[in-house]
Amino acid sequence: MTDTVDCAVIGAGVVGLAVARACAQQGWETVLVEAENAIGTGTSSRNSEVVHAGIYYPQGSLKARLCVQGKHKLYAYCEEKGVEFSRCGKFIVATHEGQLDALRAIRAAAAANGVDDLRWLDCGEARAREPALNCVAALESPSTGIVDSHGLMLALRGDFEAAGGMLAFCSPVTGGAARPGRPTLLEVGGDEPMALLATRVVNSAGLHAQQVAACIEGVPAHSIPRGRYAKGNYYSLAGAAPFSRLIYPVPEEGGLGVHLTIDLGGQARFGPDVEWTGTIDYTVDPGRAAKFYEAIRTYWPALPDDALQPGYAGIRPKLADGKHGGKHGGDFMIQDAREHGVRGLVNLYGIESPGLTASLAIADDVIERLNTH
Ligand SMILES: Cc1cc2nc3c(=O)[nH]c(=O)nc-3n(C[C@H](O)[C@H](O)[C@H](O)COP(=O)(O)OP(=O)(O)OC[C@H]3O[C@@H](n4cnc5c(N)ncnc54)[C@H](O)[C@@H]3O)c2cc1C
Repeated sequence: MTDTVDCAVIGAGVVGLAVARACAQQGWETVLVEAENAIGTGTSSRNSEVVHAGIYYPQGSLKARLCVQGKHKLYAYCEEKGVEFSRCGKFIVATHEGQLDALRAIRAAAAANGVDDLRWLDCGEARAREPALNCVAALESPSTGIVDSHGLMLALRGDFEAAGGMLAFCSPVTGGAARPGRPTLLEVGGDEPMALLATRVVNSAGLHAQQVAACIEGVPAHSIPRGRYAKGNYYSLAGAAPFSRLIYPVPEEGGLGVHLTIDLGGQARFGPDVEWTGTIDYTVDPGRAAKFYEAIRTYWPALPDDALQPGYAGIRPKLADGKHGGKHGGDFMIQDAREHGVRGLVNLYGIESPGLTASLAIADDVIERLNTH
């Protein structure tokens, strides 16, 4: 069976859902094809659920622009749709004098990105607000928050379907062909294999985005960036949360450092750390606990022995490894016909953090590209 549609979006994570919603709201007949049997089973359900302020990313990067835009859109959307969130704020803490320059650099990077509400707190001010904290200084980010990511995805799905969008589960894209001047062909596997002809295609397959692009004949191999996986493990805390807001150390190579986040139910968890891996395996190795205790006690010395339990893990689809960031500096990569030559195709690569925060802004960016390239 072959169906013809205006638009096919591949992958029903938070980004694919936001993109599919926006496409359907353009009046395009849109199908969202998802390999699994539910929405949001990938990275979108394995993250910290933090609404990032847009602090750390290099000025002019996609991450900086889309995070700041996305944050404002996300808060407004959650308010409108009744999706649960909290602007709980966060502290980024320097635990010794040697980190003060890094903290100043973070404040400068944030200001360059238009995030000008950070407040510098000396040790006394920070500890007056969070008595359990060890630090020499802290930056307070009042616009950082947390969101119910599943509630968000359900709201996006609702809008998508209300705008006439069709969601196809258990429908992995397994092949395809780009055909100049004609709709792109997508082969969809699963129990009821089918072919789709789509005038516009958005590849939002997360950890599998490179694989999906490579299976579409006509997408030049040289346009597909090398991907690497950086697993992030979490440990949960038994007992009450020791802080009332999110606590982040100064960032480390490949991630933001083992930080404390609190979910909307008030449960504290620590992580994610950075574990480079070649496979998608979400098991949390209990042997990593010692490193967590060590990292957490730099800012929370009172962490009791045996208080941490292995939690869950997520995997970051990285485009570059280590702090040097390679050619792309660790940014998101959004490719349209100008990069790969296939009209109507947008590939989303490296949509790691802050992809949840940026999801609505990424969707706007994709629509603009589909309308012009
Ligand atoms: C440890 C960790 C912590 C994070 N914390 C935060 C945070 O606090 N705040 C924040 O803003 N961001 C955070 N992020 C980033 C955020 O979670 C991601 O950017 C976002 O979830 C990516 O969504 P996605 O839709 O691109 O990918 P995914 O959620 O992975 O969705 C991709 C979908 O594509 C489907 N798929 C794959 N192959 C195919 C195929 N061939 N055919 C059809 N479907 C296919 C998959 O089944 C999956 O459902 C974090 C990420 C990680 C790993």
